[in-house]
Amino acid sequence: MVHAGDVQRLFLQAIFSRGILSENLAKVLWKKCVEAVKAADEHVEVSYSNTEEAWDEFIQGVNTSLNDLDFEFKSIQDEVDSKRLFAMVNRKDDELAQVATDYIAVEIMYFKAIVEQIMLARNESFSVSSLAALREVSAGKDKMNLTKSQAEVLLGSFVANGWLLRSKRGRYSLSSRSLLELLPYIKSTYSEEMIECTICHEVLTKGVACKRSNCKARMHYHCFKAYRRRKSTCPVCSLDWPENVTDDGLLPVGELAIRDGDDGIRRTRDSVNSDDDEEMEDEPSQTETKSRQPQRSQAGKKGKSKKKNDDSEEEADEKDATDEEEAEATPPRRRSTRQ
Ligand SMILES: [Zn+2]
Ligand SMILES: [Zn+2]
Repeated sequence: MVHAGDVQRLFLQAIFSRGILSENLAKVLWKKCVEAVKAADEHVEVSYSNTEEAWDEFIQGVNTSLNDLDFEFKSIQDEVDSKRLFAMVNRKDDELAQVATDYIAVEIMYFKAIVEQIMLARNESFSVSSLAALREVSAGKDKMNLTKSQAEVLLGSFVANGWLLRSKRGRYSLSSRSLLELLPYIKSTYSEEMIECTICHEVLTKGVACKRSNCKARMHYHCFKAYRRRKSTCPVCSLDWPENVTDDGLLPVGELAIRDGDDGIRRTRDSVNSDDDEEMEDEPSQTETKSRQPQRSQAGKKGKSKKKNDDSEEEADEKDATDEEEAEATPPRRRSTRQ
């Protein structure tokens, strides 16, 4: 006997087997599930329409049925290309069970070490150089039974499986998949370091920061663009803001924030609050010098203001038909003429 609830059941089967997927693909899967149920029994009452409201309602229904299982079909807007992505997230998982299904203990230990270097990176750069990533094999207190070449292969595998992004400059950062599926872990382990976007309140590792020291405003690129179309001043401190993320007047969050020498300093949990224990190592910086950049305040890191910002806006005007494209980790470049 076919009934309307079968749409949800088919849909859940489809997404559980896929991992992270684009909003477009998720919508296509929904439509196909509806068609499959109707093909089995044309008289079954299934509500379906191609509108945002109907989609939101369907997702709400899916999540209501997942509630008792501590799962949520959750979405995130990609920090690089601003496309919306969905994945099934275990809300209670703060121990990386998703990663654990693909890797053995020592590999997970290495992954955690890389995540730590990304989250503790200086200057809100939320990224780690290849050299610093390989250094983690022998840098920690617990000896990892990994060679550097094994670590190199592993890093490639983390990228291939969508857990990490590797930029053109060879820096590793967290992918949308990690920010979505591993958020409970990141939130519980790095609550101090994690930054939220002032506009959408989602986690932020790539974007812009207000230049005024102690101002807590931080935004994704797409949130900045949507906000800047309506207002020209900082929503927190009212400082005049430039038109483009690449103009002078804003500070980068993400790998563009890296400064000379940052990678030579390994940060650990214990050393974050006292700069004395930092371990210096000789490592040539692979990055451009950012010496003109003023020292940023650490304000954003504690900036978990729960104040609801009415300027929140879903960026929906950039519809893109292509599905499942690999996001390239290339945030907008700073203008080299910047003074
Ligand atoms: Zn945002
Ligand atoms: Zn500000």
